[in-house]
Amino acid sequence: MTRRVLLVEDDADLAYGVSLTLCRDGWDVTHAATGSEGLRLIAEGAPDVVILDIGLPGMDGLTVCREARRQSAVPILFLTARSEEMDRVLGLELGGDDYLTKPFSTRELCARVRALHRRASGGVVAALADGRERRVVVHGLTIYPERRKVLRQDGSEVHLTNTEFTLLLTLARRQGRVFSRQELMEAVWEEGHRFVVEHAVNVHLGHLREKVERDPSRPELILTVRGAGFKLREAER
Ligand code: CA
Repeated sequence: MTRRVLLVEDDADLAYGVSLTLCRDGWDVTHAATGSEGLRLIAEGAPDVVILDIGLPGMDGLTVCREARRQSAVPILFLTARSEEMDRVLGLELGGDDYLTKPFSTRELCARVRALHRRASGGVVAALADGRERRVVVHGLTIYPERRKVLRQDGSEVHLTNTEFTLLLTLARRQGRVFSRQELMEAVWEEGHRFVVEHAVNVHLGHLREKVERDPSRPELILTVRGAGFKLREAER
């Protein structure tokens, strides 16, 4: 099966070199020189892996990632310049999977792209065999932070939106701790989106409960703590 990679990079020389290397490594490479073109190709082309430069003219890589994550869980490898320390941290928070700092060796790039693809396509067995992949297990749900994926005990996937996933992960990382709506809002929506009303948290939590609770009208997993907020039920000991 052909493995497809989308490269979003405005530097034509770099894009040429990277494309050539990946082609030799067996990849079918599509190149986009702008963020908006990249976003369109993620939606239409359904690549297996995306390599995304952060410094792009117009729509930057971080914005492309945030937009892409609304509808796609495709593995994203960020390319960053050395001066963009903060950008790469932010990039991973926005749903990027890995990053490489320029200048990088093409051999390293190929290794990272292959690893991302393997992780994303390997399914449960490969993920469990790969000790490096972090995961959070709560009440029969296995949450993979890097792939932003949730599996039930029977191996079936719980299909969550990006926001629902972030809410669940936030609650699950600190099982039993009560989070206020304000805290949950801050976990999900970055600076500049503070106008989002607290009610939005209830809406997303409602959708999340529909997907993970046995009886959403009587939540057993995501509990409401009257006057304080929400928490994920502690594990029985
Ligand atoms: Ca660039």
